[in-house]
Amino acid sequence: MTERIIPIADGRYERQRPFVPDLAAAPDGQLTDRRGRRLHDLRISVTDRCNFRCTYCMPKSVFGKDYAFLPQTSLLSFEEIDRLVRLFVAHGVEKIRLTGGEPLLRKHLERLIGMLAAIRTPAGEPLDLTLTTNASLLARKAQSLREAGLRRITVSLDALDDATFRRMNDVDFPVSDVLEGIAAAERAGLAPLKINMVVKRGVNDHEIVPMARHFRGTGHIVRFIEFMDVGASNGWRMDEVLPSAEIVRRIDAELPLTSLQPNYPGEVAERWAYRDGSGEIGVISSVTQPFCSDCSRARLSTEGSLYTCLFATGGHDLRALLRGGDSDERIAAAIGHLWGQREDRYSEIRSAETAPLRKIEMSYIGG
Ligand code: SAM
Ligand code: SF4
Ligand code: SF4
Repeated sequence: MTERIIPIADGRYERQRPFVPDLAAAPDGQLTDRRGRRLHDLRISVTDRCNFRCTYCMPKSVFGKDYAFLPQTSLLSFEEIDRLVRLFVAHGVEKIRLTGGEPLLRKHLERLIGMLAAIRTPAGEPLDLTLTTNASLLARKAQSLREAGLRRITVSLDALDDATFRRMNDVDFPVSDVLEGIAAAERAGLAPLKINMVVKRGVNDHEIVPMARHFRGTGHIVRFIEFMDVGASNGWRMDEVLPSAEIVRRIDAELPLTSLQPNYPGEVAERWAYRDGSGEIGVISSVTQPFCSDCSRARLSTEGSLYTCLFATGGHDLRALLRGGDSDERIAAAIGHLWGQREDRYSEIRSAETAPLRKIEMSYIGG
């Protein structure tokens, strides 16, 4: 008897062709969902590939040698991304984050950055355009990214201790190369940077204070992120989540902190400043203090599916409209309808039962 193998974590096939309403008003930049949340922030995954195998994101057991990444023809082209971004901007999006997979693996990414940097909001402002990277290629690319029009960048770094970092990225990548990438970004004028550290209890929580100490006084902002149950392959358990309150307590015990007001309503990171004026940190508490009530983020997958929540189990196939010859007006109407119907609030209802659901992988829709 031949056994049928069912992929455990491949949400790529759950794509619905979006409904296109016949009578839709033109976008007025004020789109809101059923909970009154604006569409303000779009994260775009430009590749599902990555040269790291972070155990919490793309574990080797799932993303091994035989894993079938998307073929080139499935990816949205830069022209398709540019066209969609313009429609999202008409609906109110002001902030774009390029992500992946590892976005710097996408060939000629600078060309896309140049295209997006030229877009203006209805008020005539440039977009807040940024990118999240593991920094493995940053030393080589920082200057060309800046020249293409990138203004800001976020680097992921989970430990300063080399052995811990190599274990977490699981491809034996050294900390020193990430630090070189950060230095190159500084030289290119992309500073101050945000540095993302995913904290897993018992894995890298001993690195919290060293990370804070290392980046204090540099202008860069370390953001400590609670380990989340994204996707269906990272074996998430609540007891591996170190609550942000504990992270703040540990840092405050050695480097006294005081709380800061958010930069803007709905900011994901809670801000804390060092009392001696040497900078600030952020904590992102998606597990212990959900922020769904303010969530204004949509995600566009590598092959052009729209996800209205990081923990969604299915996407809406905008690529089918793009490649099916639909007009800008019709695609804008479909986006408006999708967001208008949105009710997502996964983090508020997360439980042991929801964690193993067949959610989309983070490397596919981007963090
Ligand atoms: N490869 C790039 C990088 O690592 O910066 C961009 C994509 S990565 C999916 C985006 C962010 O998601 C990274 O900062 C990563 O640490 C974070 N991330 C991935 N899996 C996560 C998880 N299970 N919980 C919390 N954050 C996670
Ligand atoms: Fe790659 Fe980023 Fe996921 Fe790590 S977190 S495996 S670097 S996509
Ligand atoms: Fe937004 Fe979904 Fe995260 Fe809630 S769980 S903050 S709705 S992405």
